[in-house]
Amino acid sequence: MTITPLMPVYPRCDVRPVRGEGAYLIGERGERYLDFASGIAVNLLGHGHPVLVKAIAEQAATLMHVSNLYGSPQGEKVAKRLVDLTFADTVFFTNSGAEAVECAIKTARRYHYVNGQPERHRIISFANAFHGRTLGTISATNQPKMRDGFEPLLPGFDVVPFNDLAAAEAAIGPDAAGFLIEPIQGEGGILPATPEFLTGLRKLADEHGMLLILDEVQCGYARTGTFFAYEQYGITPDIMAVAKGIGGGFPLGACLATEEAAKGMVIGTHGSTYGGNPLAMAAANAVLDVVANDEFLANVRQTGERLRQALEQLLPNHDHLFESVRGMGLMLGVKLKSDSRAFVAHLRDKHGLLTVAAGDNVVRVLPPLNIEESHIAEFIEKLSAGARDYSPAAA
Ligand SMILES: *Cc1c(COP(=O)(O)O)cnc(C)c1O
Repeated sequence: MTITPLMPVYPRCDVRPVRGEGAYLIGERGERYLDFASGIAVNLLGHGHPVLVKAIAEQAATLMHVSNLYGSPQGEKVAKRLVDLTFADTVFFTNSGAEAVECAIKTARRYHYVNGQPERHRIISFANAFHGRTLGTISATNQPKMRDGFEPLLPGFDVVPFNDLAAAEAAIGPDAAGFLIEPIQGEGGILPATPEFLTGLRKLADEHGMLLILDEVQCGYARTGTFFAYEQYGITPDIMAVAKGIGGGFPLGACLATEEAAKGMVIGTHGSTYGGNPLAMAAANAVLDVVANDEFLANVRQTGERLRQALEQLLPNHDHLFESVRGMGLMLGVKLKSDSRAFVAHLRDKHGLLTVAAGDNVVRVLPPLNIEESHIAEFIEKLSAGARDYSPAAA
């Protein structure tokens, strides 16, 4: 037998973390890494944050799980907080981002169904998008590496170019249900939607009776310096998928919707055994306690600005390697002139710095949102040393 007990679907590297302390991960042999990957934008408070740890430990000892057949004081509280903080009127809790997007797609289809237009089932999504790994969510991307061998996929999806409003408009037919878009593509390479594009989609959706579905699984939850990225575009969605940061490391996702968009989601139409259980809600509540205030968000914007400035200063010193920096808040991407995966591996193996590769040869910089000046200095030092002793050809 050559297959590993852990199904070998990930290109796992030699970093084998066993402990975390704030912005650092500690490996099996005691080696330390500066973690500017944060579990891919999940550990927004870093590792072992006392507020989150205490909330989870206390809730685990009190009540870990009950079914959704019972009333949920814990879920009602978190849902109410999210409703108060966002465009939404109602929230469905899931265990992951893909499930949150699935719920969003189902909500959109049900909306048209209860409106007496069941033929309006088609979702328009965008090239290089990432919405998760379920059959539904891989149907909403055009990336062959995710789709190959899993066909036939779900019918009812059109993928059109990102940031091309004319192409999006041209794809609208009588069966169009909505647009599904990441305001800032994460896996695709930290690519923000242009303001004209996102506001244009909002306008098209309104004109054609379609729903605007945002996937803020990666860019949401304070990552860009506002609670959600849509706030910076001056629009609101009808439905939004959230996950990653929402549990600070505890598996949790959520589908948020307006009352109008959620009008088809009545008793019996959807469900989840674990979704929003008391333990998950304790984690969510603790994360909200820390991040959902103006002071924390202003700090993310300031820290993001300092990190971006430091990167912009560094980049010209290595212009054989670096092309540009892009992104918002603490969701930053450094575009390379060569393979970003090789450089991410170099930073990790030779300099103890963790980042994440993304599409378009981008190195994703996704630190915990509560990093300090000293972490930025250490990051820039490691990145600069990494750029100095790196030769793309040898990698
Ligand atoms: C990570 C991600 C998902 C999928 O989340 P999972 O928890 O892995 O299912 C969906 N959309 C975006 C934008 C993501 O970054």
